[in-house]
Amino acid sequence: MSSCCVIPHEGDPPGCPMNDQVTKPVGRTTVERLIKPEVRAALTSQPYYFCDAPDCDTVYVSALGDHVITKDLLAVRVGIKETQDPIPLCYCFGYDRKAVWDDIRLKGETDIKKVITERVRAGECRCEETNPSGGCCLGTVSRAIKQARAIKEQGLL
Ligand SMILES: [Zn+2]
Repeated sequence: MSSCCVIPHEGDPPGCPMNDQVTKPVGRTTVERLIKPEVRAALTSQPYYFCDAPDCDTVYVSALGDHVITKDLLAVRVGIKETQDPIPLCYCFGYDRKAVWDDIRLKGETDIKKVITERVRAGECRCEETNPSGGCCLGTVSRAIKQARAIKEQGLL
């Protein structure tokens, strides 16, 4: 994996107040860019953390756990927390789950991961500003491809 979009942090992340799951550090830039403009005034000066649990509406939580930003307060759809299309996978180059599933259904393969990898290498990604996790999407894309293959094997894609 490339070292793009590494998020610096110190200390232990807080648990998500909704499901107690361990959260991940996220840069302030990411939070400020992706929340709806009217929510910005409510931001505290604390660092924020990202909850990546699919079944939880929390997206960001402040270090002290006293400010929770749920997915309805974001300007973008949080792919990992959605079950209906469109489910964004790669925010920088605009690939969603349907693009991956269509490729696997029609061709049995997809070059989406390769295209993204090349563009990341070329320094074109802006995950910190586009992806709610603030991080690289390649792991998520890999999982979506694997999932699509598994569903196709069962004859359900
Ligand atoms: Zn959560």
